[in-house]
Amino acid sequence: MLSANMVALAYLVAAVLFILALKGLSSPESARRGNLYGILGMTLAVVVTLLMSGVVNYAWIFAAVFVGGAFGVVVARKIPMTDMPQLVAAMHSLVGLAAVLIAVSALYNPAAYGIATVGGGLSIASRIELFLGTFIGAITFTASIVAFAKLQGLMSGSPLVFKGQHAVNLLLGLIMLAAGIAFCFTQDWTPFLIMTGVALVLGVLLIAPIGGADMPVIVSMLNSYSGWAAAGIGFTLNNNMLIIAGALVGSSGAILSYIMCKAMNRSLFNVLLGGFGGEAVAGGGAAAVGERPVHSGSAEDAGFLLSNARSVIIVPGYGLAVARAQHALKEMADALNGAGVDVRFAIHPVAGRMPGHMNVLLAEADVPYDIVLEMDEINPEFSDADVALIIGANDVVNPAAKNDSGSPIYGMPILEVNKAAHVIVVKRSLSPGYAGIDNDLFYMDKTMMLFSDAKKACESILKALS
Ligand code: NDP
Repeated sequence: MLSANMVALAYLVAAVLFILALKGLSSPESARRGNLYGILGMTLAVVVTLLMSGVVNYAWIFAAVFVGGAFGVVVARKIPMTDMPQLVAAMHSLVGLAAVLIAVSALYNPAAYGIATVGGGLSIASRIELFLGTFIGAITFTASIVAFAKLQGLMSGSPLVFKGQHAVNLLLGLIMLAAGIAFCFTQDWTPFLIMTGVALVLGVLLIAPIGGADMPVIVSMLNSYSGWAAAGIGFTLNNNMLIIAGALVGSSGAILSYIMCKAMNRSLFNVLLGGFGGEAVAGGGAAAVGERPVHSGSAEDAGFLLSNARSVIIVPGYGLAVARAQHALKEMADALNGAGVDVRFAIHPVAGRMPGHMNVLLAEADVPYDIVLEMDEINPEFSDADVALIIGANDVVNPAAKNDSGSPIYGMPILEVNKAAHVIVVKRSLSPGYAGIDNDLFYMDKTMMLFSDAKKACESILKALS
């Protein structure tokens, strides 16, 4: 068994490793190292926790680790990269559920958690901690399930809104608060269960009205909530490591949400209240898909345009991930580079289905970091580019975000590909993207549609180039 001082020291080292992990993850170059620090910190934290004097039964712990670990290995091996966002949402829901279940068992048997007062009850501080951990955990649980259902396509991605939604949310919030305060004074099960039940309903009501294109903010917001829920459990369990790790996840998730909000041009305040974008009309203002003529071309046509260009900017999107086309794309970009064409990649902050999705794919294909540019850096460059090549992206290049005030994505900054001399769009059809709206870019005179799977298109263009 470890002494209290040794535990404190080991936790301090683990906390530093977690901070280094976050720092590493802030840039693609150092992300691998950051991951390694995170793994080391978590291993240290788990081993030290298992060696603490409060642990009385290893059999139950190892049985749970075995079952959970086996499940995790199977899921991690089977899940396709494109389903990662829903997996993350599902994981967040488990953190929320864990917070609620621990709070229930701590209230049922405070002595088992070492938080019982002399009379066997709970101190006011413990009750407040339980209240906070439970309601944040309950909201995280159901909100993450709704996010999972939306991302998995089990629920419509369009905003589900009803009249008086904000008033209902406010009323439920007040009931939850009143029940929580009553619980803090009485330590009674009835207000505790009311507070938990209302929080579970609130989780659903807060996420249901979020429109498709606004989901990235919600995914990072739930990441943050799950961190705060974990920190709440840390207080209940009197475990400093969990408090620190939870607070790090909570605050880094909140910072990421802020960054995503800025990328989407939304206010964090509206996101926190839920239901932002609910007033927008899903479907956009453009004519129905398929009614307008487009210019379509072949891979050979695309190869001709690209090989005659001086400068090409490639915009990857979710379709690149679906087609697993990153390696084929890299080969094609290398061939263009070899032919003296200046090739760069433009990354929109919400391209794909999770923050950093495109950076991960391009890093996997060994695309050099210095030619991968963020939206603010690359946007002024489009007017000098000969070709903007869009591979499986749609919403992030949709001019409706600038021109159509009735569009659900109105106000979102986009990659300004329409400023390039020529635009080539690679996708399989004229289907809309995640936000469910048509894209005027496809119908512009300077746009050539190359209807194909992204991987096949890259391979065919490469063939045409050589
Ligand atoms: P979009 O979802 O707007 O568009 C992707 C396009 O890829 C589709 O129009 C589809 O067209 C095409 N596509 C799909 N499969 C293939 C394939 N095999 N080959 C070629 N093309 C393919 O993607 P964007 O990246 O432009 O935008 C991301 C959207 O997702 C935004 O609305 C964002 O808000 C949202 N979102 C982002 C999250 C994040 O954290 N980044 C999280 C949740 C949502 P077709 O079927 O015709 O081929």
